[in-house]
Amino acid sequence: MSALYERLAILGIGLIGSSLARAAQASGAARSVALYDADADVRARARGLELGEIFEDAAAAVAGADLVVLAMPVGAMGEAARAICDALAPGAVLTDVGSVKGAVIEAVAPHARDDVFFVPGHPIAGTEHSGPEAGFATLFRGRWHILTPLKDARAAYADAVARLGDFWRALGANVEFMAPARHDVVLAVTSHLPHLIAYNIVAMAEDLENVTENEVVKYSASGFRDFTRIAASDPVMWRDVFLSNREAVLEVLGRFTEDLAALQRAIRWGDGQVLFDTFERARRVRREVIEAGQDTPAPNWGRDET
Ligand code: NAP
Repeated sequence: MSALYERLAILGIGLIGSSLARAAQASGAARSVALYDADADVRARARGLELGEIFEDAAAAVAGADLVVLAMPVGAMGEAARAICDALAPGAVLTDVGSVKGAVIEAVAPHARDDVFFVPGHPIAGTEHSGPEAGFATLFRGRWHILTPLKDARAAYADAVARLGDFWRALGANVEFMAPARHDVVLAVTSHLPHLIAYNIVAMAEDLENVTENEVVKYSASGFRDFTRIAASDPVMWRDVFLSNREAVLEVLGRFTEDLAALQRAIRWGDGQVLFDTFERARRVRREVIEAGQDTPAPNWGRDET
């Protein structure tokens, strides 16, 4: 394919940043890739992975790039944008891959110059692994990429949004547009709360005095291990997500706690109908997820148990 951008600069060479570098190279969507990470050890490891040209300095990495992607934890994005704002090329598109949009826009938009187009985004793709070695070129294939453009009436801004959408499509993603606040509530339900619950269950099981850690691990296949997979996700990334999406998460958590109390009551009073109806409704959602192509219907999530 003909390249959509001449030079892609990626700041943050973790799971997402390194996957982006690999996917952009494999698809030919960017002619060259420049990368920078705040961690010297990560930069050194990334040099052996053929992700592109690794820079020692963020401003040097973005110089001359027509697409710049912030791929670090969301709490670091405002400061990262401030550090590069003078070095961005006129006409460059600045985007991010942060899991929260409202707080990122608030932190980054003040540093986007008038001649730079800031188009926030979030790939709904990931794994529980982190670091440059964890990335792979097909991570975004068949997954949603949500863009939350700013209210900017300039025709050039609309062109920048359209081109960025084409770029993510070239990496295999399906592109969707959403208002930032809507994004933050939807993701609080589908991603942030499930991670909070997983972290809580796993930490609680470890704390229980009458169950030794060995028993928790030994019998984990009964459901617990699927929570441990989610709870293996990067603690810095998730700390930042909860601190940045506080309002939406607290709203959804309030509703969740109420509904959990209703289930607790049903168990206490032996109300099997309430339990059955809730479980049946939840099971239908699982079928819809599979029909939407968002997971495999294979038993055990397609895990190879041999
Ligand atoms: P990751 O694997 O932990 O990598 C993040 C990298 O960014 C780390 O090497 C970190 O270095 C570096 N970094 C921190 N501050 C920086 C800065 N100012 N400039 C340059 N690099 C910096 O994280 P990830 O999973 O790729 O996540 C990156 C972003 O993608 C996050 O905003 C996250 O919300 C979003 N996201 C993640 C997923 C997922 O499933 N993982 C999915 C969708 C979106 P240190 O070692 O010094 O911290």
